[in-house]
Amino acid sequence: MASVRVEAHEKIQGVYWVTLEHEGKRLATVNLTPGRAVYGERLLTRKNVEYRLWDPYRSKLAAAIVKGVDAIPIKPHVKVLYLGAASGTTASHVSDIVEHGGLVYCVEFAPRAMRELVDNVCAHRPNMHPISADARFPERYRAMVQRVDAVYCDIAQPEQAKVLADNAETYLKPRGGVMLAIKARSVDVTKTPSSVFKSEVEVLKQRGIAIQKVVRLEPYEKDHAMVIGAY
Ligand code: SAM
Repeated sequence: MASVRVEAHEKIQGVYWVTLEHEGKRLATVNLTPGRAVYGERLLTRKNVEYRLWDPYRSKLAAAIVKGVDAIPIKPHVKVLYLGAASGTTASHVSDIVEHGGLVYCVEFAPRAMRELVDNVCAHRPNMHPISADARFPERYRAMVQRVDAVYCDIAQPEQAKVLADNAETYLKPRGGVMLAIKARSVDVTKTPSSVFKSEVEVLKQRGIAIQKVVRLEPYEKDHAMVIGAY
């Protein structure tokens, strides 16, 4: 049988490195729903614990960690507001990390993505709450969301930084953390990616968010960056 070694990530709780013979080191989380994969990812069992391999080509959060981000506001037992959950690829790994003691509020406005998110993912994961809503209007889901420890935003739309800041202002606890996945081409195709990242970061700073780290996500995602900050 091929050998598998599992080590906890040096800094990030709930994230693991799985070393596979002939394949090298891969990122993984502990599967909250053993036996069930979300997007065709590989499942591996080691010492009675099932891990889900986490593909940096499919998830910007995984790409950021593989590119060296070693402090994120998403950890066991915290509440996360996730904007742009799509069909739940990354949100399911966030659900693994926060475990049963945490919560992931998943905001998504595309009906098809929402249906897949609910039927394939949230129905099996009690710590994920789907919210069918437009993230540009955070007050519209006030009745469904409590104060959170972290806001994660991956909506690939213009004004991504403004949407994140508006949600942080409405739902984030004092000193809570934020993560913004910036897709440069969604903001302004006429500007270079670097200048788009700079101007989006400036929006966050002006809204009271202290920037901790900005990493570019190449080669996993072209013209994308991940920003990590605290409110
Ligand atoms: N975060 C996902 C992942 O890693 O698995 C991928 C997200 S995809 C790049 C962007 C998603 O944001 C799309 O599903 C889109 O429908 C959603 N979206 C865009 N603008 C939105 C808005 N204003 N409110 C809610 N969802 C939005």
